[in-house]
Amino acid sequence: MPRIHILPPDVVNKIAAGEVIERPSSVVKELLDNAVDAGATQIHIDVAQGGRELIRVVDNGCGFEAEDLPLAFASHATSKLRDPDDLFSIRTMGFRGEALASIGSVSQVTLESRSAEASTGARIECQGGVLSKVEAWNGPTGTRIEVRNLFYNTPARRHFLKTQATEMGHITEAATRLALGVPRIGVKLTHNDRDVFEIPASSSLADRIRLCFGKEVSDFLLPIDQTHGPVRLRGFMADPRVERGHARMQYLFVNGRWIRDRTLGHAIQEAYHGLLMVGRYAVVFLFLDLPPDQVDVNVHPTKAEVRFRDSQSLHHLVRSTLRQQLQRGNLIPELKVPMQTAASSAFIRPGASPAPMAGSWALMPPQGRDAAILPFTPPPRRPIEPPTPAADMGQEFMIAPLEADTAPPVSEQGTLGINEPSVPDHDRPIGPATDSACSDVPPKVIQLHHAYLVLETAEGMLVIDQHALHERILFEQLKERVRTGQVESQRLLIPEPVDLPPAEASLILEHAEALAGIGFGLQDFGHGTILVTAYPAPLHRRSPAELLRRVVDHLLQSAKPPTREQLQNDLLALMACHAAIKAGDPLSQDEMLSLLQFRHLVSDTHHCPHGRPTSLFFSKQELDRQFRRIL
Ligand code: ADP
Ligand code: MG
Repeated sequence: MPRIHILPPDVVNKIAAGEVIERPSSVVKELLDNAVDAGATQIHIDVAQGGRELIRVVDNGCGFEAEDLPLAFASHATSKLRDPDDLFSIRTMGFRGEALASIGSVSQVTLESRSAEASTGARIECQGGVLSKVEAWNGPTGTRIEVRNLFYNTPARRHFLKTQATEMGHITEAATRLALGVPRIGVKLTHNDRDVFEIPASSSLADRIRLCFGKEVSDFLLPIDQTHGPVRLRGFMADPRVERGHARMQYLFVNGRWIRDRTLGHAIQEAYHGLLMVGRYAVVFLFLDLPPDQVDVNVHPTKAEVRFRDSQSLHHLVRSTLRQQLQRGNLIPELKVPMQTAASSAFIRPGASPAPMAGSWALMPPQGRDAAILPFTPPPRRPIEPPTPAADMGQEFMIAPLEADTAPPVSEQGTLGINEPSVPDHDRPIGPATDSACSDVPPKVIQLHHAYLVLETAEGMLVIDQHALHERILFEQLKERVRTGQVESQRLLIPEPVDLPPAEASLILEHAEALAGIGFGLQDFGHGTILVTAYPAPLHRRSPAELLRRVVDHLLQSAKPPTREQLQNDLLALMACHAAIKAGDPLSQDEMLSLLQFRHLVSDTHHCPHGRPTSLFFSKQELDRQFRRIL
């Protein structure tokens, strides 16, 4: 008996659907593409239960002819392509004629439409690929598609769907890409009968960016417009201070189509090189307009990636245009601080306000060099006050001892109020600094440039970044407080509302419990507004909006949601960075000694969470060799 057979069309369609329709947002994306191709100027997307139950897209485009309706759900049925040559002059979003067939095979669809010329419209249903009869429908010009019970007949797929909030996040992203990519269109998105966002058809790109991402992004944009031969690059780039922990806010559109592209992503990061910390990403909204024969859009099942004929020159165009604009906006560091060797040179950026996120605005050294980084503006000397139980738990957090009944013993010597680490001595890693760490003889130490502690060790010499060390100590202490449930929380008399893109608000609320563990009090106020009722006391200088932004950043950083501990650690690191002494703070001998008791905390890790080195070790042998005492 022969074993090979041709698969029946419904199985073929389900396989194809698997490629195109991965989750509810894929349906939204395909329906939006179709509405754009139909010339719509107004689109309403209505979603229930994160798209599991219902996705309805209503447009005012050209509509279907009644006789075309049965064909709409057939595979490879399209009005956008006729012969193979057309593939190289594509000006529409769709062209494969696969989307409706795929959607129809894995859900229950109702399609109602009327073309401008027809006196009445028509309606058809498609249930798991099975079509109903076409009926008359009395509605306005345009198309209304309802997709219900997605993946009802492919339970494995349905099982893979994530929470409502996560799926809605992806849908919101799809709608945002449309709103940015095709500015002629008015877009309204509602979820479970609540408005998520509404963007009027008349709004400009800058308005759209403000409506989608708020003033914290739209107030810091530089316009881009550059033409090179037949290629035009336009849009906006954000001031480097508006950075993110992920590249998702690097929006790239090619002929109006949202895409992702490694080469151009690299060009963007190159342009911002030296202005962003390691692992941070610039925010840009870039539009490339180029002749259709310069780009192959038929290389990816969901057309999220394309192939450029000449990606190198596009890389150059993007990098040089953005770099020039940064220079024009005076955002490139100008003052080079000469140091003894090229390998340790660093840039300082003059006369600008500190970065909103980083504790002190420090610029990365030129590519490949990670030895020296100078802080941008040394903050004023912070008074080190004697610990008082009622001390403000913000800035003075660093000097206040833990409460006697819960805290580990307070250091006798310490005037910084640093508490003994919870790590028992025998657990401390053996490293260059361990020699005298436990001995009674105080180590020899001096402070250089109010930033570095230079310390003699048995094996040589250790140079420690004072901020990094203090940051690490506070971080360990904060972790201990979280573990023992002792985090100070600052209650707000009047809760502060923070407006966020709704998908981000729900993402935060999903993690409300983990955030409560480190002192946040959060309540859902609907429409993307979160009420902040309390926040971690050590972060009292930061605005609640900025803190929540940071949380979102962290949640979006990786494909998998972070664990409770990862999320908490990230915020504890922020608290520690905020409260720690900075470069520029002079320290007394006692203060240095008090800090140095904990030097094993940096000498074994060597890099702070931002990727900067925290300590450098020079062995005596190496010094002897450099001075030719030994060969
Ligand atoms: P493609 O977009 O690749 O052509 P689809 O399966 O998405 O394939 O759509 C099939 C056809 O149905 C389209 O070519 C178009 O003619 C028609 N169509 C789909 N959606 C709409 C719409 N919203 N308005 C008018 N026509 C539409
Ligand atoms: Mg389509």
